[in-house]
Amino acid sequence: MHIKRSEELYSKAINLLPGGVDSPVRAFKSVGGIPLFMKEGKGSVLIDEDGNSFIDYCMSWGPMILGHGDRDVIDAVRETALHGTSFGTAHRFEVELAELVISMVPSIEKVRFVCSGTEATMSAIRLARGFTGREKFVKLDGCYHGHADFLLVAAGSGLADSGIPDSAGVTTGNAKDTLVVPYNDIDSLERIFEKEGKDIAALIMEPVPCNYGLIKPKEGYLQRVRDLCTQYGVILIFDEVITGFRLARGGAQEYYGVRPDLTTLGKIIGGGLPVGAYGGRKDIMSKIAPEGPVYQAGTLAGNPLAMAAGLASLKKTLSPGFYESLKTKTETLAERIKPALSKFSKVHFDFIESIFCFYFTDKKTITSVNDVRACDMKLFAKFHNAMLKRGIYLSPSGYEVGFFSSAHSDEDIDKTAAAIYESLEEIF
Ligand SMILES: *Cc1c(COP(=O)(O)O)cnc(C)c1O
Repeated sequence: MHIKRSEELYSKAINLLPGGVDSPVRAFKSVGGIPLFMKEGKGSVLIDEDGNSFIDYCMSWGPMILGHGDRDVIDAVRETALHGTSFGTAHRFEVELAELVISMVPSIEKVRFVCSGTEATMSAIRLARGFTGREKFVKLDGCYHGHADFLLVAAGSGLADSGIPDSAGVTTGNAKDTLVVPYNDIDSLERIFEKEGKDIAALIMEPVPCNYGLIKPKEGYLQRVRDLCTQYGVILIFDEVITGFRLARGGAQEYYGVRPDLTTLGKIIGGGLPVGAYGGRKDIMSKIAPEGPVYQAGTLAGNPLAMAAGLASLKKTLSPGFYESLKTKTETLAERIKPALSKFSKVHFDFIESIFCFYFTDKKTITSVNDVRACDMKLFAKFHNAMLKRGIYLSPSGYEVGFFSSAHSDEDIDKTAAAIYESLEEIF
């Protein structure tokens, strides 16, 4: 593979941007090699500066559920931009997107738009603290909620890779109110609620962790979490930045039939533009300024271009059979690669709807962060390289998941299945 232009750009970038990138996992550190510089996305395909094309399963880390450069999304952004890019005032797209989000996500009665998932989770915790008057909160080991100081404790993803248990620069004061328990372990949660429940404002969790491999909830786990939160007056926050509009129109809360008090959203909600949101019970949301005493603001929050892109994207997910068809794509791939997977004992593949993950381990079920920690990430790195060589772009970390979009075709799946087979042959 010829990557001369990427090499040139990277050699400039490393002197200008820390690590040559604007977000750490993009740097290919855990899989080796240099990051490829992309110049175009079209449907399921990414094309780099040297003209190599790849079937993409990173999908900008989740947002591109319609594939890259969707015509309707581009048209909406272009049309909106002709009237101005930011007003710093109220405008109609905020109202339209709010209406749509509230109609889609079961537990959301009111919503506030922000510019990223990080802002959404950070603000939701502040809101839960302001509402309850309590200071501590619980997060689950391995769940990632963006990079606010007090959430950079036992987080997944980029942190898992760089081997930093917490980030430098996060003070003990900042981390001291963050209590951590393992995901899928209801007894630990019960113990911590028994001991400190009256001081705990919130429990924040990814209902299905997708930033530390993919871990599915045990039968009944989410409902037990819901019940314990109700019992102790703890605000339950589902961080659905990945699962929202992905597992179902209404996210994991619809998929599993469990209602959180607050929900954080990001990724798909912006259709590829910078949008985050948090929303939930009216009585809680009305504590946000200017209605209530919890301050939160944003110069570009609810930006018209971003709202227009989100609206155009979400509207398309409403078409009949949209999620069924996405799921069929993942199922088809799973079916195609079964023979390859059964040939090699040290690889496992799992998926939920259109989210999938490869694990290099002897285990055949993954239920905890420890199961993911035990995976062989060096093997993943080899697999990643072997796939890239064959024109398949996976997220450059074994802790990340892959995503199907509605733009992935049967032909893409055929090519991907063949590449998986060959790559496994090569690395084992
Ligand atoms: C990506 C992600 C975030 C952070 O969103 P940003 O837009 O990157 O700030 C928060 N929570 C989850 C579950 C995520 O996957």
